[in-house]
Amino acid sequence: MKQYNAATGKVEDIVTLAYSDDEGAFWEPPAQPNMNFGAGHVPSSRDAEGLINALYEPLRKSEPVYVTRKILGRDQSNTFNVYQYTFAPKSYTKTIILSAGTHGNEDTAFLSLYRFLFHLVHDYRNYPQLAYIRENVKLVVIPFNNPWGVTNNVRHNSRSVDLNRNTDYLWDKITGTKYQTGGVYYKGSAPFSEAETQIVRSYLEGNSEAIAYIDFHNIQAVKAEHIVYTPRYLTQHREIFGDVINKMRKPTDRVVFGSAAVPTLYCYAANRFAMTTGNPEWWNGRYTDVLGSPNMTEILRFFGNIIIKACGLEYKTNVLETGEKFTKLFMYNKTGIDSITSTGTTYSNIKHTIYDFNIKRFGLLKMRGHIKFTLTESATVGINPFLYQVYHPDFAYSTAKDTLYGEYIQALAPGTYTIPINNAMHVFPTNYSESGGTQRAELAKMRIQAKVSIGTITIESFRIWIDYEPNNLGNPFEVYDATGKEAAAEGSDYVLKYPIITANDDGDL
Ligand SMILES: [Zn+2]
Repeated sequence: MKQYNAATGKVEDIVTLAYSDDEGAFWEPPAQPNMNFGAGHVPSSRDAEGLINALYEPLRKSEPVYVTRKILGRDQSNTFNVYQYTFAPKSYTKTIILSAGTHGNEDTAFLSLYRFLFHLVHDYRNYPQLAYIRENVKLVVIPFNNPWGVTNNVRHNSRSVDLNRNTDYLWDKITGTKYQTGGVYYKGSAPFSEAETQIVRSYLEGNSEAIAYIDFHNIQAVKAEHIVYTPRYLTQHREIFGDVINKMRKPTDRVVFGSAAVPTLYCYAANRFAMTTGNPEWWNGRYTDVLGSPNMTEILRFFGNIIIKACGLEYKTNVLETGEKFTKLFMYNKTGIDSITSTGTTYSNIKHTIYDFNIKRFGLLKMRGHIKFTLTESATVGINPFLYQVYHPDFAYSTAKDTLYGEYIQALAPGTYTIPINNAMHVFPTNYSESGGTQRAELAKMRIQAKVSIGTITIESFRIWIDYEPNNLGNPFEVYDATGKEAAAEGSDYVLKYPIITANDDGDL
């Protein structure tokens, strides 16, 4: 996937991995040890402090320069510290935030995050994917967002709040009983009412430059081999999840690309900080020994490769936004309560067909659809769909209104007619225009104009579709005209009407 990078002025790959883009980029972790409580180096107790001491502290002790830790604060029960471990190369180019244990009973998720970090610390020389992270990416890791829940083997915190419903993103909009006191997804008394979510907010703010935040979970409500949830209405580099799932899935596997619009930690991070975020979820239903080697190896393949893909990202999602296509539909149906009419023998705007677009990159703006109107007496009707940008070098208002590329004109008897709408223009990015200086293209504007030789037309309905596509061609929109060329031979019958290239000196370049 390519993306215009404003910083370098070049079109670049969005996901660039230093080692390679080929099959080798997928990380095959070694078989994982049995991670049951009490097995090997895993303590027999679920006590969160004990797990930190047994699992994370040895990582820090073996690489005290690369791995550091700090206490972010106390949890809501005031019995546990929430720790942050930072895995920082000497010089890094980006930051990624990883967390787990938001739901304290989701063991395989928080243990597999630890296993990834174990390999990052001890095995990176064996895996180019991990070596890339060691050299380029600062990882901010919160092993347990909810240490009380981990210790007590429950989803909630000490006040029965589901921390993954306690941010301010759409908090007011979730009102069902399951979100109220005693509910399985109790959202708390207010957004960020809990010490744990205040800590999450604070580490996201403190690392707001991070380009991704991944919070790892287990799920029981959905039974499928591959599950990820991403923010439903927020721009995202969703391919970091999709690529991993598509690489892992077998033909019979069930795949759930879930999306959610609730006050989760990941929705909050995506909305507030333009981070690529998500809840990768692991369903433990394939193995009875969920903390045994086969399940732990499979979950690490899934979560580990998502981390690796996230570390390959180069941009926040607000940069991605500038390069994506969009479609908007503008519609109207007459209800009889009132009406839209048009009159006059020269073109004027039809009411409510007016809309302006902020354009982030050079590209194409296309207009299509239809308009239906009623004519009460015989007349010549003109419909002129047009697009323009103030100070566009070729399609400023004064030029665009006269091109009539989309014009329909016809003598009609009284009646009701449906006329197609079509037009397009080469749009320029919406610019800052300095008063008195060289003026540059501003918002792109859509209008439909009408004229009628006598009487009035009444609009019955319209559908106007606007499609925007980024495009780097110098001439993505060309107009060819065969008017007056009836006698010309095929092949020499069209005259290029647009673009007509003229020299243009923009001043003190
Ligand atoms: Zn969960």
